[in-house]
Amino acid sequence: MPNTPIQASAATRRNMNERAIQTPPPGTFEILHADAISGARAGRLWTAHGVVETPVFMPVGTQGTVKTLEPRDLVENGVQIILGNTYHLMLRPGVPVVEACGGLHRFMGWEGPILTDSGGFQVFSLANLRKVRPDGIEFQSHIDGSTFFLGPVEAMAIQCGLGSDIAMCLDECPPYPCAPQTACQAVDKTLSWAALCKRQARAPGQLVFGIVQGGEVAPLRERCARELVAIGFDGYAVGGVSVGEPEPVLLREVEDGVRHLPPDRPRYVMGLGDFGQMVASVACGVDMFDCVMPTRHARNGTAFTRHGSYPVKAGEYKLDTRPVEEGCGCYACRHFTRAYIRHLLNVGEILGVRLLTIHNVNCYMAFMREMRAAIVAGAFEPWRREFAAKRQEQRSAGSGES
Ligand SMILES: [Zn+2]
Repeated sequence: MPNTPIQASAATRRNMNERAIQTPPPGTFEILHADAISGARAGRLWTAHGVVETPVFMPVGTQGTVKTLEPRDLVENGVQIILGNTYHLMLRPGVPVVEACGGLHRFMGWEGPILTDSGGFQVFSLANLRKVRPDGIEFQSHIDGSTFFLGPVEAMAIQCGLGSDIAMCLDECPPYPCAPQTACQAVDKTLSWAALCKRQARAPGQLVFGIVQGGEVAPLRERCARELVAIGFDGYAVGGVSVGEPEPVLLREVEDGVRHLPPDRPRYVMGLGDFGQMVASVACGVDMFDCVMPTRHARNGTAFTRHGSYPVKAGEYKLDTRPVEEGCGCYACRHFTRAYIRHLLNVGEILGVRLLTIHNVNCYMAFMREMRAAIVAGAFEPWRREFAAKRQEQRSAGSGES
């Protein structure tokens, strides 16, 4: 058969037009299936650059790229939405450059949805480089020491300039552990900044999410959630988790953060990427996650599999002709062996990191799709039990997640 261009029939064009007309406005969140036992739900969030099927994992594109991956790799591996970092992009190349190039989507050649963080988390982690003021944070660039200021007005203006689909409010993320008084002050600041963020200009169709802080103090989490809901946002995030606290504390913080959020809005736990923790969070009703784990760990030579992770660089894989993960359909697993990828990583070849990143990102996407399918099928609880049992089995066998 010769390769001829596809001509849309009149009926197809009519269908496409009808679909375009029927596309719900950005911010529409449909819950398609809610689990009968747990709080898990499968939904669809509409954004200005397309629809996101939830629960969803968002790979992190810190500096305008998901490290080593091209946008077509992201599409091929089922990535629906990526995260961009305001802090890094405001320093380099700077928002005027991104704006002059048509916004972040066009600049990086990614047509799907983008969520940008507010930059607050990175700025607060520059412990010695900042001065917190009531109206924002003064900090020095980690690159050349020049002074910048980031307040709620600036954070929203930057995200508006980048043109992301979902912008995050500027919040204060206190360290762990911290005194209840410190957590309380962080909540006060987070709330007053959130009210300001809500009033700022947005990019066309841009959604804004509020962030629940409160450390490990449940009443503070509740107050923060309730007051954010009173301000009214398109979605809500639980922040200040996975900052060094033990897992039981982390999961309690997620539960406390989510409990008082409206069920008809998307919920996002920031910076969480451990499979077990994501499953537990989904059971509490969380819809969105992001984490640097699949990409950062690939650069360290760690391969993720459905039930654990292992160091591909290790000597035991020298002659291993199996793919990184048996049964995986990603490009790296369809074409290359552990022995080859191990070799590339050990001699510092860029392709090694790229192939392992492709696999790791695909592994995360496949995992989320599988979890979503279980929710849709009304089988989340048995799926969750089976996942926990297999994970335990793998851990006992000595290849638990690192
Ligand atoms: Zn693979």
